[in-house]
Amino acid sequence: MENKGVDLYRSRRGYGGVEAEGVTGRRRLGPAGVSWEKSTVNKIVKTDAEWREALTPEQYAVARQQGTERAFTGAYWNHHGTGVYRCVCCGSPLFRSQDKFESGTGWPSFATPAAEESVETSRDTSHSMERVEAHCRKCDAHLGHVFEDGPAPTGLRYCINSASLRFEEE
Ligand SMILES: [Zn+2]
Repeated sequence: MENKGVDLYRSRRGYGGVEAEGVTGRRRLGPAGVSWEKSTVNKIVKTDAEWREALTPEQYAVARQQGTERAFTGAYWNHHGTGVYRCVCCGSPLFRSQDKFESGTGWPSFATPAAEESVETSRDTSHSMERVEAHCRKCDAHLGHVFEDGPAPTGLRYCINSASLRFEEE
């Protein structure tokens, strides 16, 4: 497919990319009920062709096309290093090893994101299922899904594809 209108950005590769200011709403539950808080995130915006070039075919299929790696095949489901798991697309710190737990599912599982603002969730009704999809707030990379059968105190299980992550030892 011809890649039009992106020559301006073609020299920028790997992490970083093109930064654009975007305003997103964040849902906050307060004593008065639900209110919306505006916060600014420097979004990473790249064309589909640029992502395809920057990633391996598997990383691209999972992170940019909402794919799911097969259970027990990824690099991190049985990984026990100490450090931070960053977004494979933009390098944003998403999860920490201290929040990783053995879920027995074959996918790396975390009880909580590294920071509240690093991972965003949305409703996913694909494949005839009602699920909560998790993505990188900075570049919208698909990460996996969130289930409510995780350990205390969050009770959440962030079921994440290894292909969307890049581990950095600390
Ligand atoms: Zn990202």
